[in-house]
Amino acid sequence: MKTQAHISYQDNTMHVEKVSVAAMAKDIPTPFYCYSYTAIKENYLAYQQAFAEQDTLICYAVKANSNQAILSLLASLGAGADVVSEGEIRRALQAGVPANKIVFSGVAKTRKEIAYALSHNIFQFNVESEPELQLISELASAQNLTACISIRVNPNVCANTHAKITTGKSENKFGIPITKARSVYHFAASLPGIKVQGVDVHIGSQLTDLAPFEQAFNKVAEFVDTLEEDGHDISIIDIGGGLGIDYAEDDTPPNKDAYAKLAKKCLGHLNCKIVVEPGRSIVGNTGILVSSVVYVKKGEERQFLIIDAGMNDLIRPSMYDAYHQITPVIRNTNETALYDVVGPVCETGDTFSKNRELPVLQSDDLVAILSCGAYGSVMSSTYNTRLFAPEIMVKDEQYSVIRSRQSYQDVIEQDVIPPWW
Ligand SMILES: *Cc1c(COP(=O)(O)O)cnc(C)c1O
Repeated sequence: MKTQAHISYQDNTMHVEKVSVAAMAKDIPTPFYCYSYTAIKENYLAYQQAFAEQDTLICYAVKANSNQAILSLLASLGAGADVVSEGEIRRALQAGVPANKIVFSGVAKTRKEIAYALSHNIFQFNVESEPELQLISELASAQNLTACISIRVNPNVCANTHAKITTGKSENKFGIPITKARSVYHFAASLPGIKVQGVDVHIGSQLTDLAPFEQAFNKVAEFVDTLEEDGHDISIIDIGGGLGIDYAEDDTPPNKDAYAKLAKKCLGHLNCKIVVEPGRSIVGNTGILVSSVVYVKKGEERQFLIIDAGMNDLIRPSMYDAYHQITPVIRNTNETALYDVVGPVCETGDTFSKNRELPVLQSDDLVAILSCGAYGSVMSSTYNTRLFAPEIMVKDEQYSVIRSRQSYQDVIEQDVIPPWW
């Protein structure tokens, strides 16, 4: 069992900062997410420090965890935002991220979303296709506005990550093949209402090795040279996000310093501002999902630890075969057993881990699923009419609910029976 910064055992009870998770669970029914304020802050500051020698804008990838408290914390530290929808632009603005620090990514920006982003004069659109470029031009020029754009290039590198989160191969829907992008830049420069300012690349998520980044950055550097020769003035290189974190005890992802050094080595000579879009590596290891054991069920071949959190709360194990450490909140035995840890949802895929050796547990014991700060709560649903798990933030010895649990009535009343029934 490997604990994370600000999430550790004190007197054999798991604490987030100085708050006992067991004490919190007396106040807040499980399941709930719990995040460390200080860990989030330190992760952001580590990026700032790592890139201190380079002209950099750190745009937190809002989709990793879009809770307003987390966005406000990051905004207060000076973070920008990488957003993928109008909703995320609204969240970022409301949290205090200035529009001139917002970059808008995504393959399917709609007319309405582009108009909304233009009306706030955001820092940059990361354009993913020619029709998108044309639409941005049309909407911007109709209002006498200028949209600053980078084109997301697809460098066709293998990110060595899970197939569902690799984005930089030519078979993926993202970006424009780097081999074809030169003509698209030419086209972009000819369009009214468009200012070509940069190049954008994002090759995937949860990368645990720097080599794919290096390949991508080198391809981008070469491409920037070509664009400059073609007469474009490139002042921004957006290197995307994707730096991995340690989920398993023996994961050893590169640190932020090594990542920043690599960016400097590959791109520093181009004298561009570097935009970096980290999501997971800011929040991933700062949060846990706290759950209670409902039953221990002995099957014919397996022993099931049935907990009150399900795939609707945390879909990563079923969607990405993701590994998360699972650990009792109170350590009171050295005796272990093998468990399949499963949730209550009526799907076989509602499994957090198979054959996991854990200390012996029984009904009502608390367990924590670690490294749930990114792509946890944001991907949850109310499938099986289960309520969204609330979110708690801890700082030192204080904690607050930063998203409360809805009531069943709230959920049911969202549905409307037609009046012509
Ligand atoms: C998801 C995403 C990110 C963040 O990725 P992480 O792996 O969470 O750092 C950054 N940029 C773009 C375009 C993305 O889609």
